[in-house]
Amino acid sequence: MAGETDVAEILKGVQSRIAEACAKAGRKPDEVEIIGVTKTHGPDVVREAWAAGIRRFGENKVQEAAWKIPESVSGPEWHLIGHLQRNKVRPALELFTVIHSVDSVRLLEQIERVAEEGGYRPEILLEINVAGEASKSGVSPAQAPEVVEYALGCRNVTLTGLMTLAPFCPDPELTRPVFAKLRGLRDRWESEFGIGLPNLSMGMSNDYLVAVEEGATWLRLGTVLFGDRPKRKPGADEAEERWEP
Ligand SMILES: *Cc1c(COP(=O)(O)O)cnc(C)c1O
Repeated sequence: MAGETDVAEILKGVQSRIAEACAKAGRKPDEVEIIGVTKTHGPDVVREAWAAGIRRFGENKVQEAAWKIPESVSGPEWHLIGHLQRNKVRPALELFTVIHSVDSVRLLEQIERVAEEGGYRPEILLEINVAGEASKSGVSPAQAPEVVEYALGCRNVTLTGLMTLAPFCPDPELTRPVFAKLRGLRDRWESEFGIGLPNLSMGMSNDYLVAVEEGATWLRLGTVLFGDRPKRKPGADEAEERWEP
């Protein structure tokens, strides 16, 4: 496990590479924020990262976040970056400020309903399956406008941008078209719907610099900051995921 100075030092290196990528693309480094992805790591890692200056954290499972968040530090903004089932919307809204993985009208309806009942004001992103991979979640670019439309009618939920999970490629250059396409869809829907969609959640450890060059505002970084993830038990389901490193 990384010691305190490790995360702080690694973060400095990552930030300077981000700054270089920004310079290359004519962007300002403060347009890009890191979301520290702490899935499978314990609250100690969250505390270290918080001490190093990370202010936003991402988890992909509601169940895991439910025990980890209260045991970490108070102060971070928590982002749900993994698939959300409709029956977990209520705990998700209790835990998370931003949900990156909205991918259907049905899910959005449920979020709006629970938010109305519970007085939550969640920020959401639409997860777009840009590459059309059958194995990935996310709404297709063709079906997304219907979800955008629905979001515009919501009183409690605010749509602020788009998210995508690029296919893993050993050569990050190969993911560039996916990021460029997400940005293009954002630009198009901003003008078609007359709205602002400032947040582009794209880029992970292996491809974040390319994502920065293509306009990412939120980088979801796990491995590059915190090292390899401990393996989950094969077949472990969420219910038994009281996860102790
Ligand atoms: C795990 C995960 C990440 C972080 O992946 P790394 O390659 O470790 O940076 C980013 N986004 C999502 C949706 C994830 O599930």
